[in-house]
This record gives sequence, C-alpha cells and structure tokens, in this order.
Amino acid sequence: MPSNIDNLIESHARLTDLPLLFNTLTIETLPAAVQAKIAHIDACLPQTQCGLCEHPDGCLPYATAIVIDHEPYNKCVPGGQPVTDAIAQIINADDNNANNKKILTTELSKWPIDLISKRPTEVRAIIREDDCIGCTKCIPACPVDAIIGTGKHMHTIFTDLCTGCELCIAPCPVDCIDLVTVERELTDAERIQEQDDLRLRYHTHLDRVTEQLADSSNARPVVSMVEAKLNNAASQTLDISAQQAKDTIAAAKLRSKIKKLEKQLSVRDNASKQTELITLQAELSLL
Ligand code: SF4
Ligand code: SF4
Ligand code: SF4
Repeated sequence: MPSNIDNLIESHARLTDLPLLFNTLTIETLPAAVQAKIAHIDACLPQTQCGLCEHPDGCLPYATAIVIDHEPYNKCVPGGQPVTDAIAQIINADDNNANNKKILTTELSKWPIDLISKRPTEVRAIIREDDCIGCTKCIPACPVDAIIGTGKHMHTIFTDLCTGCELCIAPCPVDCIDLVTVERELTDAERIQEQDDLRLRYHTHLDRVTEQLADSSNARPVVSMVEAKLNNAASQTLDISAQQAKDTIAAAKLRSKIKKLEKQLSVRDNASKQTELITLQAELSLL
C-alpha cells in the first residue's frame, strides 16, 4: 500500500509538464492535497480519452471537474462500475459524514458488461482497407496516435494501441472503420501500466498537434489541409464544380456532426441534442 508521501510524489509526476490544452484547468495553482486528489482520480480513469463523460478533452479535465466542481463521479462510461467505485473510495475517504458516503451507479454503456472485468466490453477499431480512400481524416482524431497512413494511401490501425474510443469513426467520410469486440483479462498492475502508457501517448499527441499548429510551414493539422484542398477544387484540375465541392464539404461536416450526436445519444438521452440531430439530418437530405 503506497504511503501518502509516495502518493504525493506520484501525483506530482503525473501533473507536471502537462500539454498546453490543460492550461485552462490551472491545476498548478491548486493546493497540493487537491492536486493529489485530482491525480488519484485521473489514475483510476481508463485514459480512453473518449469524451463520453462530457469532457471532450479527456480524462484529466473530468477528474478535475469531479474534485473542483463536484461533478458526479459516475460518468466514465468505458470504466463502468469498477471505476465509479474506485473514485467513490477516494472521494469518501475525506468525508466524515456517513450519509454522504453513497456509491453511485455508473452511466450505462451501449456495450454489454464483460463478466470478468465488470466493465463494458472493450472494442477495437479496424479499417476496411479496401474501402479506405486515404483521406487522412481519421489520423488527427485518434488521441493515442494508433492510426498510420499517408494522403491517398490506405490507412491502418495498430490494434494493440487502439483504445476503442470510437473517435475516428465520425470523421471517416466513407464509413470504412468497423468496431470489433475483444476479450482480455488484465491484472490491476497491468491496467495501471496500460493507463500510464495511454496517458503519455495522449499527451504526446497533444504536444505534437500544438507544434503543428505553431509551425508556420505546416500551419494547420492535416484534416484542415484536406478540406482546404477540396475548397480549392474549382481552381484545380479536378472534374467537379465549385458548388459540388462545397456540397461535398458541407455533407461531410454534417455527417460527422450527425455521427457524433448519434453516439452521444446512444449513451444518454438529451432532448436538445435529439432536436439538433433531426435538424442536421434534414439539412443533409437537402444536399
Ligand atoms: S475514459 Fe472515461 S473519463 Fe476518460 S474521457 Fe472517456 S468517459 Fe471520460
Ligand atoms: S484508432 Fe480509432 S478507436 Fe482506436 S484509439 Fe484511435 S481513434 Fe480511438
Ligand atoms: S478517414 Fe476513413 S477513408 Fe479516410 S483515411 Fe481514415 S479510414 Fe481511410
């Protein structure tokens, strides 16, 4: 069992040199004990960085919101009940009021619960390589850099690195990414090691995207360059009109938004998102 000092050293290591994206969390200005709590909760989270907890920037912002804004701690969908229980232990440890020590039930996943891990069944993404058009849109969407490929060439996913976050599915304009379920049994130590690796990969990904944005010779991420090329289609030798190019871009954007909304609604009902979905579907049908 690690001591409090071990915990503080470990927490400090986890919260130093954070990517620029997390500057707005101002974690470094918080008291050490609060930082430690955020780091301990972050350490329990799967590091899938899927945003299903309604924190699109991933696990650390959710951990921070639980501690600072007292957000419900049962919103990590891929973590399931084991993660909710682990966070409850951290939160309840400081609370002397027995009435407050309730354990919440985790939000439901669309995937069935795995009998061994007690978490939602894990999935991995696989690209149907024959259908891939090499548009590169999936690459920047992957928080752990598990996809390789280059423009106009077939792409592939390192299945061992894929977390099954599903974030690459919405940007794919030809729907050529499938999800397959996987079964595996991890010890606690293996899971912690995996989560540490995924956290590092995500932070490295964010640092690389930040560098790309700051680089004036390659000023925009690759997804935007693809759209820019389509935007300029009329002035290029492509055999499509400017209006067709615009419609293609608009339809791709609408499809991406629709898929994201459908995914969010599959986890949690939301009347305004449902209305937005219907509006977007109607807009798409007009293109
Ligand atoms: S893995 Fe859990 S905590 Fe992390 S982003 Fe996804 S839902 Fe949020
Ligand atoms: S390949 Fe797709 S599903 Fe797998 S981690 Fe990357 S974005 Fe998520
Ligand atoms: S988004 Fe789809 S079509 Fe484009 S490179 Fe990725 S898998 Fe291929």
